[in-house]
Amino acid sequence: MIKNKIKGLKMTPQRLAILAYLEGNIDHPSADDIYKAVLKKFPTMSFATVYNTLESLKNRGSVSELTIDPDKKRFDPNPDPHNHLICNKCRKILDIHIDYELRVPYEKKQGFEITGNHIKFYGICPKCRRGK
Ligand code: ZN
Ligand code: MN
Repeated sequence: MIKNKIKGLKMTPQRLAILAYLEGNIDHPSADDIYKAVLKKFPTMSFATVYNTLESLKNRGSVSELTIDPDKKRFDPNPDPHNHLICNKCRKILDIHIDYELRVPYEKKQGFEITGNHIKFYGICPKCRRGK
């Protein structure tokens, strides 16, 4: 899976470490989370490298950027279309893999060819509900 993500992207050990961290990651990390995690293995890693690698991956469609956390952008390496649950308190983001049959009536499409949708559900996660 990592291999499809790196087509045309020059691979350095740092970039590979970023890819390895993202592979199968379902925590929707921010650029800062990724930086901190990879820094443990690569103390010379710069935030700019993380940022630029994420930009390249994003431009290739290999990761998507989620803007559902108002505090920071989060990254999602899962290429399958899916929806999200976000905790209003701790900002944990979970995947929801349900295909909701949403239709925009023709007269509301305003000429758009619709290619996708994304539903965000807001709430309080079990941990926060228990008051941690
Ligand atoms: Zn929570
Ligand atoms: Mn996701």
